[in-house]
Amino acid sequence: MLTPHSVIAVIGGGTMGAGIAQIAAQAGHTVRLYDIQEGAARRAIYGIDNALSTRVANGKMREADKHAALGRLLATANLSELIDADLVIEAAAEQIDIKQAIFRDLAAICPSETLFASNTSSISITALACGIPYPGRVAGLHFFNPAPVMKLVEVVSGLETSPEVLESLCRLALRWGKQPVCCQSTPGFIVNRVARPFYAEAWRALEERVAPAAVIDAALRDSGGFPMGPLALTDMIGQDVNFAVTCSVFNGFWQERRFLPSLAQQELVLGKRLGKKTGQGVYRWPLNEALPYEPEQPACGGETSAVSDGVTFMSLDLDDVLVLETQGETAAAVAKRLQRPVVLIDLVNDWRSSSLVILAAAAANTAEQTAKAVGYFQRQGKQVLLIKDYPGMLVWRTVAMLANEALDALQKGVASEEDIDTAMRLGVNYPHGPLAWGAELGWQRVLQLLENLQQHYGEERYRPTSLLRERALLETQHEH
Ligand code: NAD
Repeated sequence: MLTPHSVIAVIGGGTMGAGIAQIAAQAGHTVRLYDIQEGAARRAIYGIDNALSTRVANGKMREADKHAALGRLLATANLSELIDADLVIEAAAEQIDIKQAIFRDLAAICPSETLFASNTSSISITALACGIPYPGRVAGLHFFNPAPVMKLVEVVSGLETSPEVLESLCRLALRWGKQPVCCQSTPGFIVNRVARPFYAEAWRALEERVAPAAVIDAALRDSGGFPMGPLALTDMIGQDVNFAVTCSVFNGFWQERRFLPSLAQQELVLGKRLGKKTGQGVYRWPLNEALPYEPEQPACGGETSAVSDGVTFMSLDLDDVLVLETQGETAAAVAKRLQRPVVLIDLVNDWRSSSLVILAAAAANTAEQTAKAVGYFQRQGKQVLLIKDYPGMLVWRTVAMLANEALDALQKGVASEEDIDTAMRLGVNYPHGPLAWGAELGWQRVLQLLENLQQHYGEERYRPTSLLRERALLETQHEH
C-alpha cells in the first residue's frame, strides 16, 4: 500500500509534526506539511533545516542529502492541496473534536485509498475512525518525543482498523529506521499505561516521606538501572504534561485505583512549578548533576562472615544480623517474626555495575547491628543509603508494579509479550522489558511482594493481576 515514493501529509507543525515531517523527508518522501496557524508550517520547516544542519555539522548527514530532504518538504496553506497524499499523519492539538474534524475534512478531499494515522497519545482510534468513510484505513501511529531520535512507534488499531493497514504502517516505520510495536486502542496504549507505576511509586514514597527526592531518584537510577530517576524525569517531561497523562489514563480506566494521580504532583502543577521549563519542579533547574544527593555514611562495624552469590543478592548472615532482600514486608515485621536483627536490601539491577545499595533497618536493631550491614556493602565499594523502613522499598516495589501492569496489558490483549517489552525498552529506555524482568526475578517473588504490599496497605492498588498468579503457579510446577 505504502511505498518509498508515497506522498506523506503531516497535519500540525508543532513539536511532533515537525519531527515526523523531518523523518519522512529524510526517508525520501515528498512531505506536505499543513498547520492551521498561519506561518507555522514554514516555521516548522525552518526548524527542520536547523536540525538537519546540526546533523551535517556532526558528520551524520551529507550536505547534499540535507538539501534534497528540504527540497521534498513543502509547506501547505490549504487542506485541498493534500489531495495526492497516500498517508496523512495527524499531529495537531490533543482534542478529539479537532482530530475528528481534520479526518472528516480530508476524507472529503483525498481518495478512498489514502490512509489516515493519528499521533494521538490518549484519544481512542476507534472514536477517530467513527463516521469516516472506509474506517478500516484509520490507525494510530504514536511516535515518541523527540521523534527523529526515539526508535519506538506504537502502531495502534481501533475496532475497524484493517490488518493490511497495520502491516503497511509497520513496514513503513521499519523503512524509516523505527521499531514498530502493534497494540490495541486502550488508554495509554502500551508505554503510557505500563509506565504509570514508575512515577506513581516515586510520588508515593515522596508523599510518605520515605526519603528525599534525590535519594528516591538515585535508588531507581543507580541501584535499579533506570536511565533517570522518576522524579527528575517528570521535571524533564513537564509536571503538567506528566500529570495530564496520569489523569487521562486514570479516567480512561474509570478511576482505577492503580492509576490514582498524586496530590503532591497536582500541587506542583497548581503552583506552576512545571519542572525544567519553568526552572523549578521537584528540583531547581539546572540540576547540579555533580551533587544529586547528600549520601548518608553511617559508621561501619566489625568483621563479618558474609555469604553472597556475587550477582543476585538474596540473603546473608552477618553474625547476629540477617540481611535480606525485601519481599514486601517492613524490616520491623521480619525482625519480629524471626526474633533477630534484620536489615533489608532493595533490588540491585546489576550487582557488578551498580554503585549504590539501598538498605532499611528494623527499628529494634542497635546502631551497631545496622552498621554491620552498612559496612559490609561499603567494603564492597558500594555507596550505601539508609531509607525509612518501607515495605517493598523503592526499586523492588516499582519493578513489581511495572511487571504487574505489563501482565495486565498482556492478559487483556493490548499487545504481545515481545511488543510490550520492546515498547518499554525503546519508548522509555528501561534496562529490561518488564515481562522479561519479572520472569528473571521470579514471578513467585513478584507475587509475594505485591501480596505483602496489598496486605500492608489494604489497597486495591497492589492487587496482583490474575495472569501473575498463573505465572507464579506455573513456576512452582516447573520447580517440582
Ligand atoms: P504542539 O502544540 O507542539 O503542536 C500542535 C500543532 O498543531 C500546533 O502548531 C497547532 O497550530 C497545530 N494545530 C492545532 N489545530 C490544528 C488543526 N485543526 N489543523 C492543523 N493544525 C492544527 O503539540 P505536539 O506536542 O506536537 O503534539 C501533537 C500531537 O502529538 C498531540 O496529539 C499529542 O498528544 C501527540 N504527542 C505529543 C508528544 C509530545 O511529547 N509532545 C508525544 C507523542 C504524541
